[in-house]
Amino acid sequence: EHTKTPNDIIIDFRKKHLGKSLSLSYKEPLKMERGSGVYLFDATGRKYLDTVNNVAHVGHEHPQVVKAGQEQMAVLNTNSRYLHDNINNFANALLATFPKELSVVHFVNSGSEANELALRMVKAFTNAKDMLAVEIGYHGNTNACIDISSYKFDGKGGQGAPEHTHIVPLPDSFRGLYQGENTAESYAKHIDEQIDVIHSKGRKLAGFICESIISCGGQIELPENYLKLAYQSVRKAGGLCIADEVQTGCGRVGETFWGFQLHGVVPDIVTIGKPIGNGHPLAAVVCTQEVANAFANGMEYFNTFGGNPVSCAIGNKVLQVIKEEKLQENALRVGSYLKDNLIKLQKTFSIIGDVRGQGLFLGFELTDKHKRPLPEKATFLANRMKDFGILMSTDGKDNNALKIKPPLVFSRNHADELLYRLEQIFNEDFMRNF
Ligand code: PMP
Repeated sequence: EHTKTPNDIIIDFRKKHLGKSLSLSYKEPLKMERGSGVYLFDATGRKYLDTVNNVAHVGHEHPQVVKAGQEQMAVLNTNSRYLHDNINNFANALLATFPKELSVVHFVNSGSEANELALRMVKAFTNAKDMLAVEIGYHGNTNACIDISSYKFDGKGGQGAPEHTHIVPLPDSFRGLYQGENTAESYAKHIDEQIDVIHSKGRKLAGFICESIISCGGQIELPENYLKLAYQSVRKAGGLCIADEVQTGCGRVGETFWGFQLHGVVPDIVTIGKPIGNGHPLAAVVCTQEVANAFANGMEYFNTFGGNPVSCAIGNKVLQVIKEEKLQENALRVGSYLKDNLIKLQKTFSIIGDVRGQGLFLGFELTDKHKRPLPEKATFLANRMKDFGILMSTDGKDNNALKIKPPLVFSRNHADELLYRLEQIFNEDFMRNF
């Protein structure tokens, strides 16, 4: 028997004493020790270019964000039942990024909590509980979130859609039910169809939840007009529209600060998570005055940690850094450059079936010439990239999509390094034979 490495010992402990359904990235898991900007450093000091982590939005361990948290932690941390300038300042800065209709914020601690609260709001406002959600959508780990997450209930260990959840097809114009140009109407018809199903059961629509680019589904860009048509149908039926911006928000999509703004719609509720705390557990639900009023039915909403002065100091600093370092502009510039060059690579390597995304929220799919998914090639590619010190992740219905969603301090040089290694690996025998 071979001697156990330090990592083996950690893995053995995890297997025995940590949750049995936790997973690890990579065939040979990594032990990360330190982060800085777009880089992570493992326990041996090896440096990795991180193209995966959209939580470390303004860069791993951004000094100003770290300092803001440290300084406030040394002074005071309490719940939001005391007045504190940090909570007002952060709320004010956050709301300034939204259309004026969205003018109330509830602070929470995770994307799951944000969507959980959004669902409660929808139910309070509409007095209904039937939700529309998209196939392969993921919205969080709580009971109610799992119930609207087809990614989970239609996957391993899942038991299909619950009675009050109605799933519409993934609007994937590359490999979905309708392909090519102008698929919005065809996909949006399924929204109307599912609303009819709800009505035929003598019930009412509560709401519709959708990401602005569908992440777990494999970085699926919504067809132009899809969200507009969907929102029209939902509102006609008396339902509310939730935009899940947990992955796509805070300038990542480049052209706009929020993903829904790419689609010319204004949701009733927006949920925000991952990037807003740059790694600190911070999330938020932003909604209209009408929704907030309906939710305030007399029962207090209390959240021990949500909106505490430390979290608010951090969130406020993240927004400030995005602005000062022009990270949204960088996402647009570097993201467009990277996407253009991935499209160029696709011309040489037919294994790249589709390139998609906006800003620094990109993805590409590996398929054969019949558009059949090649998940083992995707896994190989991600693991091989790791050999060259580049972290990438795979996802999608068939796990054949590579996702690119790095910290927004990702530069053109980083993009070049990524493209150089991709080309090299696409030339390897295993990637050429399919
Ligand atoms: N919504 C989306 C779109 C997500 O990707 C995630 C997390 N992957 C969540 C919600 C849940 O967020 P959290 O893990 O912070 O609870």
